[in-house]
Amino acid sequence: MTTEEFQRLHNFSIEETDIQGRPIVAQIGKIQLPLMQKIDTAVSRAKQDYSADGIFVVHCITLGKHSKESQHYQGKAIDGHFLGLTLYQAVMYLFKAGFNAIGIYPDWEHRGIHADIREQDHVSTWIGYYMRDDKGEFVLDDKGDRIQKYRYDFPHFMEQLLLESELSVDSLHLMNGSD
Ligand SMILES: [Zn+2]
Repeated sequence: MTTEEFQRLHNFSIEETDIQGRPIVAQIGKIQLPLMQKIDTAVSRAKQDYSADGIFVVHCITLGKHSKESQHYQGKAIDGHFLGLTLYQAVMYLFKAGFNAIGIYPDWEHRGIHADIREQDHVSTWIGYYMRDDKGEFVLDDKGDRIQKYRYDFPHFMEQLLLESELSVDSLHLMNGSD
């Protein structure tokens, strides 16, 4: 996309950096316009409904370490999180904005989403999580990195979203001391 096209977005400024402070402007030439239009639409709606909680924090677009054929390297994928939204709420806005490939990552430090605009006539969903041992601790590979696993079944995806949404409500109750 062009700088002019980027400047027409409502929720992303030209000074925008990702969560690691890397300027997005440096990647603009590689980013596909429909990707940013869709995420922009999702964020507008989220802000309309939840004001500042709907702000989107970019983790990465074309940068970062991904699988070789990743949509990120084609400028068609974005990772990030909505400031105050549950994953359930985030995914609903992404679906509504027309993304046809959505992954959720509950184990990230800021639990977040991957959304991309791959060309296909169906919707792909998955959960990305890190492998854990019996005690719930992350299992590390020989380089000391966490081991990424995926689950692709849609019913499980929806169940996890609803569960996470309930957990968020529960933790709010706890914080308010109503439990
Ligand atoms: Zn991603």
